[in-house]
Amino acid sequence: MEDIRREALRWALTNALEHKGQANANAVLGKLVAELPEWRSKISELSEIVEQVIAEVNAWPREEQLFQSMKVGPAKRPKPERRGLPDLPDIDKYPMVITRFAPNPNGPLHIGHVRAALLSHEYARRYKGKFILRFEDTNPENTLLEMYELIKRDLRWLGLSWDEEHAQSDRLELYYSYAERLIKEGKVYVCTCEVEEFRKLRDCGASCPCRELPAEEHLSRWEQMLAGDIAKGEAVVRIKTDLKHPNPAVRDWPALRSVMKPHPRAGERYSAWPLYNFSAAIDDHEMGITHVIRGKEHEVNEERQRFLYDHFGWRYPTAVQYGRLAMPGVVLSKTQTMRAIKSGELAGHDDVRLATIAALRRRGFVPEAIKQLILDVGLTPVDSSLSWETLYAYNRKFVDDLANRYFFVANPVKLLVRGAPRLKEARLRLHPSRPESGERILPLEWDGDALVFHLSNEDVAGLKEGQLFRLKDLMNVKLTAKRRVLEAEFHSLEVAEVPKLHWVSGGAVEVDVIKPDNTTARGLAEPAVSELQPGMIVQFERYGFVRVDAVRPKLVVVYGHR
Ligand SMILES: [Zn+2]
Repeated sequence: MEDIRREALRWALTNALEHKGQANANAVLGKLVAELPEWRSKISELSEIVEQVIAEVNAWPREEQLFQSMKVGPAKRPKPERRGLPDLPDIDKYPMVITRFAPNPNGPLHIGHVRAALLSHEYARRYKGKFILRFEDTNPENTLLEMYELIKRDLRWLGLSWDEEHAQSDRLELYYSYAERLIKEGKVYVCTCEVEEFRKLRDCGASCPCRELPAEEHLSRWEQMLAGDIAKGEAVVRIKTDLKHPNPAVRDWPALRSVMKPHPRAGERYSAWPLYNFSAAIDDHEMGITHVIRGKEHEVNEERQRFLYDHFGWRYPTAVQYGRLAMPGVVLSKTQTMRAIKSGELAGHDDVRLATIAALRRRGFVPEAIKQLILDVGLTPVDSSLSWETLYAYNRKFVDDLANRYFFVANPVKLLVRGAPRLKEARLRLHPSRPESGERILPLEWDGDALVFHLSNEDVAGLKEGQLFRLKDLMNVKLTAKRRVLEAEFHSLEVAEVPKLHWVSGGAVEVDVIKPDNTTARGLAEPAVSELQPGMIVQFERYGFVRVDAVRPKLVVVYGHR
């Protein structure tokens, strides 16, 4: 009961201070019931307490109210609960939620692309619906055969599974039949105007000479397109829209065109190919997509597609749009990426300078971290920007627990220590907070009466002669000579408040580290790294998390982040 009185006092004071010293009983009661739902059944009892407390509080001068408020603290305001993604709209309109991810196999997936994939997949699973993977490969000029498998590999790696898989290049007959139907119904036309000519007319809201020709003429032009008798750029099938539409880009948009180049999957079978809006709109309907989850840059496409849906008398799916996600300083454009790969500027789709899924995987990002980050960004409609630091922070949460620790020194400098006890090795834990993972052995190399170590030259730069420092987890030594080969004398074993340096001694293994700017750092690691396998993520202590890229002929790791 005292607890209740105190809570009532807290709310009464907060409310009084916000309302010229006079708390309102109903407001305070409302707050209390929201906070303590178990009191809902004893409302009259609660209301009595509240009224007593309020009578007291309202009688106090403001100074007293302030003083008491400081004593009991401000009322707890229940935080708005943020439990993952919001619910999808229109759920009760459909018997089942069906979402899709529709990549164009013209380049590798990057972190921005997988947002649509992860969100669509997440919702399909949340509502026990269906998730469809659809390759939008109707441009023979930029479709890349190797991308189908690469994209699927990336999606599987992210933990996605799909209930259906389609490639639009398998579905041309379907698009043709819809095109033909629309030609016959006079809702589309085959335009043979010069593009510039058409644009001029379109921009002032006028129809081109083709638009009003009879359906027979368009059918015959269409037959020629199908037969490959019309070259690229000489004819295009246009959807009739509102020629006065405020956005000229929406007016009579192109739906199909002639393309002579063979398609990597379909070969030379077809010479008329649908453009994005036509095939995507038809497929969304045909596949029963209920929710289209996508970036808001698709808004104009939705406007275009709605004209097509109206021609067919179909219902447009529920569109759920989110804001842009930019990554400053990172090339995200697929076209630019592919151009740079072709010219040799980038080593491939998994070049460490990229933010492709393949590059992130290579740098030791784990799928859980990427998924968590994307789901946290969620459906926010505002444009946001993503920094490498944010990506690192998410990944660190996952890999810190998973990665074994090893000593590594970049650009090694030799150190001789004299006067040390005749130790043979150091035994250290593979993971600081997971003793069950076991130990690693760091053998100590002796050269006569001197212990031989290698230190990182970056660490050494900060040392002065006469300075005491600790060879981490081993011993304290005092630097006696700072020359090409450093010399030091043994000082003590117990942990001391001196700089701690990582070291490598006997059996050191040469390692190449591929850095995020694609340069290579060379160094030495402790011998236990020879047990690592490609794909393993480990931490080189105080250096960073790395992922093993290759073990032969030499150990090569890719740097992830600190
Ligand atoms: Zn025309």
